[in-house]
Amino acid sequence: MHAMLIRNISLPDGRRGQDLLVQDGRIAAIGPNLAAPEGAEIVDGQGWLLAPPFVDAHFHMDATLSYGLPRVNASGTLLEGIALWGELKPQLTQEALVERALAYCDWAVAKGLLAIRSHVDVCDPRLLAVEALLHVRERVKPYLDLQLVAFPQDGVLRAPGALDNLKRALDLGVDVVGGIPHFERTMQDGATSVRLLCELAAERGLMVDMHCDESDDPLSRHVETLAFETQRLGLQGRVTGSHLTSMHSMDNYYVSKLLPLMKEAGVAAIANPLINITLQGRHDTYPKRRGMTRVPEMLAHGIDVAFGHDCVMDPWYSLGSGDMLEVAHMGLHVAQMTSQAAMRQCFDAVTRNPACVLGLDGYGLAPGCHADLVLLQARDPIEAIRLRAQRLRVYRRGRLLAQAAPSESTLHLPGRPAATGFLKS
Ligand SMILES: [Zn+2]
Repeated sequence: MHAMLIRNISLPDGRRGQDLLVQDGRIAAIGPNLAAPEGAEIVDGQGWLLAPPFVDAHFHMDATLSYGLPRVNASGTLLEGIALWGELKPQLTQEALVERALAYCDWAVAKGLLAIRSHVDVCDPRLLAVEALLHVRERVKPYLDLQLVAFPQDGVLRAPGALDNLKRALDLGVDVVGGIPHFERTMQDGATSVRLLCELAAERGLMVDMHCDESDDPLSRHVETLAFETQRLGLQGRVTGSHLTSMHSMDNYYVSKLLPLMKEAGVAAIANPLINITLQGRHDTYPKRRGMTRVPEMLAHGIDVAFGHDCVMDPWYSLGSGDMLEVAHMGLHVAQMTSQAAMRQCFDAVTRNPACVLGLDGYGLAPGCHADLVLLQARDPIEAIRLRAQRLRVYRRGRLLAQAAPSESTLHLPGRPAATGFLKS
């Protein structure tokens, strides 16, 4: 029986000076001055923030770390990104894809990111990326939860054979039904795709996560159909709309009706701040729209909202490092979520909210939960976002997966202290 006592930690809810006891991979107790069981490993938390691990609810692992293959996206636009992915797809091999995905999972673990929902393109009839990522899902299982979405990038109705490929991907064990209604040929086809994909999910008892209304067109309203079908088919709590950027541009009166419908249907929302702020509003001159969906308004309506990373070093985005605190930092700025409460909500949007979207079992900081933990070099969630804090220790089921030395610079300035001290609070 393995026991570990982490002493003197701060918690995301503001409690300080706490201890956390781990026994057999689960949290056994949290409180001040806990007694250490005999033989327990003792870790000094030094007052740092102990949080549950980061969760990325929206990612594309089949494309990640392909930056520069076969060439870079020179314009940095969505359209060149899609064209580039089209050039890359025929050149993909399973070995290279597995290698890149595993490398990204290593980055993720080092950043305390231990659960990822990745879309996987099912439009290639070879299903090469599907097979590769199913393999990766098994390989990383001991340390990272990888959930896969069958994503028809070129449109489930628009691309020949896409529906059959998507069903085959589900047969192979892909977890979630995806879609891209705004990319179908017409609004009507988009709505039809939402209906038939939700029916497929209901038949198979699966969750749904669609790229939905990733557009600046205020009349792209597939989220309304998504909420309606969720309600009609009894899929409440199992359906997510990803991106929803058109809501940024929608008429306010229409949105005042839409938000309660989404809440009633239990549809969750995922914003991807890094990608939305770079790819949306590109047809605008000035004023230029931000394009991210209405995060604070949804939260105020009780809708579950998560922030996703979406892309890291792929045809659409040349940057990123698997750091969900960078994602939270951008989301906070784009949505102007600068109140104390809203900044803490941004931390939740990369931890417990996406855990809820993925339906992770045993996630959280309470006795009985898995001992999946990240010790951050910050005192509270706001400071963690401000500093994109160092991940001092990353645990899964009580086992140490990664560690890093505290970050501090040594200064050589006459008359000044030797260390920056900017982390002290
Ligand atoms: Zn995406």
